[in-house]
Amino acid sequence: MTDTIGVGLEALAQAEKDYLMQTFKRQPVELVRGDRWNVYDPEGREYLDFVAGIAVNVLGHNHPAIVAAVSKQAAEAIHVSDLYYSRPQVELAKRLNELGFTGRAFYCNSGAEANECAIKIARKWGKQNRYGAYEIISANKSFHGRTLATIAATGQPKYQQPFLPMPEGFAHVDINDIGMLRDATDDRTAAILLEPVQGESGIVPCTQEYLVAVRAWCDEKNLLLIFDEVQTGVGRTGHFYAFQGFGVTPDIVTLAKGLGGGVPIGVCLAGPRADVLGAGEHGSTFGGNPLAASAALAVLEVLEREGVVENAREVGEYLQLQLRKLGTDFGCVAEVRGLGLMQAMELDRDIAPQLEAAALEHGLLVNAIGPRVVRMVPPLIIGRAEVDRAVTILGQCLDLILSHAT
Ligand code: PLP
Repeated sequence: MTDTIGVGLEALAQAEKDYLMQTFKRQPVELVRGDRWNVYDPEGREYLDFVAGIAVNVLGHNHPAIVAAVSKQAAEAIHVSDLYYSRPQVELAKRLNELGFTGRAFYCNSGAEANECAIKIARKWGKQNRYGAYEIISANKSFHGRTLATIAATGQPKYQQPFLPMPEGFAHVDINDIGMLRDATDDRTAAILLEPVQGESGIVPCTQEYLVAVRAWCDEKNLLLIFDEVQTGVGRTGHFYAFQGFGVTPDIVTLAKGLGGGVPIGVCLAGPRADVLGAGEHGSTFGGNPLAASAALAVLEVLEREGVVENAREVGEYLQLQLRKLGTDFGCVAEVRGLGLMQAMELDRDIAPQLEAAALEHGLLVNAIGPRVVRMVPPLIIGRAEVDRAVTILGQCLDLILSHAT
């Protein structure tokens, strides 16, 4: 018989070190169970979850509708193959159209893969429609995933450096600067790839004026516009697709994170102009399998039935307001920004990791991005009471941190 991992966090952390690649820096807690917006450690200690698996658990943890859908589907067929017809994945694509984007779906299992699909589409489309143009212009400080092509698209050198040389065909510009985008466009350009709100680099929204101008530029120059909505999609910003809030429709949109409510599924939706992939040109063994598609259908059903997207908008505004008040009270907040339940508090000093650690100790999960930004992407089902609880804890933690600093 093999030895089991020893009891307790220390033993688990040691075994993690022994057996897992050290690609993650983990917070000192083991999470074993969740219930709505709360998660629990093995001793039953409760944490209010304002991370939600990094914008994944849109319906919180263990939502009965997802549990029921997954259980039912698992008892019928977990996986078949895309060699055969499967009803849930077709129903899901139909629903994604009804929610506001007209296009056909390619399913995969993650955000990076959804963007890979978009990148391949842009290249084939450029061959067919722009005399072999293949370059994709994306944004500085963007994040599009960890595969080789998606780190090449990601405008952050730190993700690329260890893996150089990058695949060619990617250029980067600053967001909200249409002049820079125009200057960067040439005969090689096939597509523009943007997050409507940059997530990993600190919740930085594009302006509406900018996205409108980018759409017009794509139309004028015959370029594809791709929105990476892996983090912003599925209601996160208070609209099902974030682009609906900006009134700008892309040619391709990618979704992942929240779509399966925690069950891995990603999708690349291509509108009629960009729908160029043919049989055998792309694939993914697990993509859109019955289990994942059923989970996603349950997520979409609850979003609609329970007005979850509207709730995200309303409670998101409340969260922003309360964070601003916190900023006024403590005088160490440089900016609060975001849309819906995708909010960031930027501090005026390097205490974000300290705040993340103190919040954990006080029973709240938030996520520090870099030294100054604290990201909050809670389940979209939270109410004002959960916001009040989180903001109270953040206040207590800031109090502690600032009093130790003086
Ligand atoms: N695109 C965006 C905007 C993201 O925020 C992420 C992940 O954080 C990705 C793509 C990559 O998604 P995944 O980690 O599922 O591959």
